[in-house]
Amino acid sequence: MEAMMRTEAGTPPIPFDNSYARLPESFFTAVDPTPVEAPVLIRFNRALAQELGLDVAALEAEGAAIFSGNAHLPGAQPLAMAYSGHQFGGFNPQLGDGRAILLGEVVDIHGRRRDIQLKGAGPTPYSRRGDGRAALGPVLREYIVSEAMHALGLPTTRALAAVVTGEPVYRETVQPGAVLTRVAASHIRVGTFQFHAARDDQAGVKRLADYAIARHYPDSADTPQPYLAFLTAFADRQALLIARWLSIGFIHGVMNTDNVAISGETIDFGPCAFLDAYDPAKVFSSIDRNGRYAYAAQPGIGQWNLARLAETLLPLLDTDAEAAVTAANGVLKLYGERFQHHWLAAMRAKLGLSASADGDLDLVQDLLTLMHQEEADFTLTFRRLADVAADPSAEDGFTALFRTPASTSLWLDRWRRRVETEARSAADTAAAMRSVNPAFIPRNHRIEQAITAARTDADFSTFDALMQVLARPYDDQPALAPFAAPPAPGEEVLRTFCGT
Ligand code: AMP
Ligand code: MG
Repeated sequence: MEAMMRTEAGTPPIPFDNSYARLPESFFTAVDPTPVEAPVLIRFNRALAQELGLDVAALEAEGAAIFSGNAHLPGAQPLAMAYSGHQFGGFNPQLGDGRAILLGEVVDIHGRRRDIQLKGAGPTPYSRRGDGRAALGPVLREYIVSEAMHALGLPTTRALAAVVTGEPVYRETVQPGAVLTRVAASHIRVGTFQFHAARDDQAGVKRLADYAIARHYPDSADTPQPYLAFLTAFADRQALLIARWLSIGFIHGVMNTDNVAISGETIDFGPCAFLDAYDPAKVFSSIDRNGRYAYAAQPGIGQWNLARLAETLLPLLDTDAEAAVTAANGVLKLYGERFQHHWLAAMRAKLGLSASADGDLDLVQDLLTLMHQEEADFTLTFRRLADVAADPSAEDGFTALFRTPASTSLWLDRWRRRVETEARSAADTAAAMRSVNPAFIPRNHRIEQAITAARTDADFSTFDALMQVLARPYDDQPALAPFAAPPAPGEEVLRTFCGT
């Protein structure tokens, strides 16, 4: 098998260059993927493979064996990472990769180090009672949403490939098993820091912080207080990420500290979903009964998670305990300011405003209030506002999104007057708005349709069509216009599931 996994030139299909595997033993457990019965490659992300500097032809030829974990790849050092995490507020000291195995890292064509991980590759020492496997539905969901997030321009883990395993997995029902190949800037989480802190392993926390700084925040290393600079830079990236989630109507759904990537990427697409009608209290996840991770709760939860990271770093922030707490609190406060800054900047751009002016916050907030009262579709409201910016006669298309179209007239007048104070032409304003207000998002009912067709009929055409439209979310794509529409009555998805 191994000979087969080399190209004629003798280079391996994935040129691994691993660093995490060189960290102390307590950080992970070496474990091989468990082979599967009859793997079939259902999707391979050629463009991403090229960006990663992989041997595309070899991966296409041997994709089923490679992306199922059946093949032994030269240079791979398969391992399951150890981590802890606060899940819905309660601390679980022993989580870790229970169904994911890191094969190793590559340095991509831009010089960035990226993890390549198989999700659903079999049991690990961290599986507890789980089977280490993934079902086809959640694999397709993560494939669709993570690639859509990337196309929308948000920092996110990526999907390199998906295979079906030919084996059943047992959830509430029997489902086809599948493996997702995930690519991430790294898989270090807030929970990875908590793992070492919970064991009072200060040397481990420091080692991990040094590693994370070198890999994700190299500028912090050259400051007088590298660990404080790291925490501050992480806080800013997290504030920006969550501001951008809100700006596209994204609800992560399970912002436990083990699902927060230190790199600032969106990670772990479990019960995530996008808003249709705007409702700040919206929750889709079946397990989020108290709305802890509701749409508008996300910025606050981001701060709560940041506090959990800060706690693990306290001994590194200052030798004086009180001074360390003061420094950490300063970062928590700064996070709030940074979030507000990033969010307002994103919302201004959505309204076609390039400069900032007094009253912008009210203008944004009043539109959101109206959208909520009038059950306007989040995505279409902003997209059609761009149409109005381009051509005032498009106003009916915008107002039709509101239950009582006339309710929008006062707000529209205010918005028009504000846009007129900008130095841009109408065409430029509209183009700028269309570049930040997507026409297409992965709507929940479309994801469900794609999953259902794949699961029940092994029909991937709906999935492929959805992937095609979501690859260009900011282009109108008139032939694919139905994908822009909200769910018809009866099509709405009310609940999403982790599906583990
Ligand atoms: P998640 O809710 O996907 O973030 O996962 C939480 C924890 O449960 C992680 O430690 C996972 O590795 C573990 N886990 C989830 N599903 C499985 C599974 N099917 N088998 C083993 N462990 C799992
Ligand atoms: Mg997780």
